Amino acid sequence: MANYESLLALKARFVFPVAGPPIPGGCVTICGPSIVAVGSKVPDCPVQDLGNVAILPGFVNAHTHLEFSDLAVPIGRPSMPLPDWIRQVIEHRRATADAGPSAAMQGLRESLAAGTTALGEIATSDWRSNGRLEAELRSIVVMFHESIAPLRDRIARAVWAAEKFLLWGQTFKRVRPGLSPHAPYTVHPELLASLVELSQRFQVPLAMHLAESREEIELLRGGSGPFRELLEDLQSWDPLADARYPRIFDYLVQLARAPRALVIHGNYLDRAELDFLADRAEAMAVVYCPRTHHFFGHPSYPLARMLAMNISMALGTDSRASNPDLSLFEEMRFVAERHNDVMLSKILELGTLAGARALGLDRQMGTLEPGKLANLNVVRLDDASAGDPHELLFAPTARVVQTWVRGEITEQAADE
Ligand SMILES: [Zn+2]
Repeated sequence: MANYESLLALKARFVFPVAGPPIPGGCVTICGPSIVAVGSKVPDCPVQDLGNVAILPGFVNAHTHLEFSDLAVPIGRPSMPLPDWIRQVIEHRRATADAGPSAAMQGLRESLAAGTTALGEIATSDWRSNGRLEAELRSIVVMFHESIAPLRDRIARAVWAAEKFLLWGQTFKRVRPGLSPHAPYTVHPELLASLVELSQRFQVPLAMHLAESREEIELLRGGSGPFRELLEDLQSWDPLADARYPRIFDYLVQLARAPRALVIHGNYLDRAELDFLADRAEAMAVVYCPRTHHFFGHPSYPLARMLAMNISMALGTDSRASNPDLSLFEEMRFVAERHNDVMLSKILELGTLAGARALGLDRQMGTLEPGKLANLNVVRLDDASAGDPHELLFAPTARVVQTWVRGEITEQAADE
């Protein structure tokens, strides 16, 4: 039990508040579950000097599917077309129907150990009905109930399930409900409209996979290509023109009616779509999943351009079905290596504050500031000196050695 009367200051070689520049020799002072002070002054209370480490806000993984967390390696092969990969995912799901709940808990543990204290999770399996979930859950999970109905006769049932999920979601504290219309090729426009209406009624966010692949754009434009073949094979092809909108833009217009929306991937957004998102940065964010983007071999992601347009961006790992692990720190390192035109301080912000904003959690987390939850990471640094402390933070040898949630250590590296 936390002693709510006691203060504890954690001292580090560098504190990265994200709300401001790194503080050499800084302290983060916590009281119970909250941060009460951040600065270079050592407070008049017990001080724990953590040595050559950085203290930073807990990472926010804005997009994952935890049901695949027991996979040792991704499904399929690098650069394969998305429709072919989805065929293999469907086969995998059929073969491992009961694995979802335990895999999800495994994914939560892996995420915490890697410093992630909040996640945007797309849930299809029923791991949320795990009776111990609320007791075991340390992180905050925004759980987006995934809805799929490419054919009109499946819509009513999908809407019913989504509403049931939202009613259930009101009873939890650390699970925040949201809805996920899966993608344009699996969601009939009438289902999308109903989910937008539910999101308004329950004031919850929406997350939709959008503009992820060329094949998706091809299907919307001409009703043809590998996605049509996949849907036909699954007896899910609706030949009527109103079974889908012709452009990604039309989907963005629908999502913009929700209180908050996450565009997952956005690998193939055109200029008008990017402008639309820039105009709605308060309520719409794009989640870039760097290593998953790389896995599928898409053309380079216009991250710097999107940031320059002031589009709200966040980072996600996506699942272990297309990524080797669930470490958001590794995603940030990958971005640091591949996107030399994005400042390291911005990359840290993408993995913390920007993710919290995208999920609507930034009042509680995302920066180290008084009043926010004491959800933080301790990262062991090199002895080397560096002009920019962010270079030390993203050095290959730097690693997360402690994760704190609500003022308590929940994960600690074995050799620490
Ligand atoms: Zn996804």
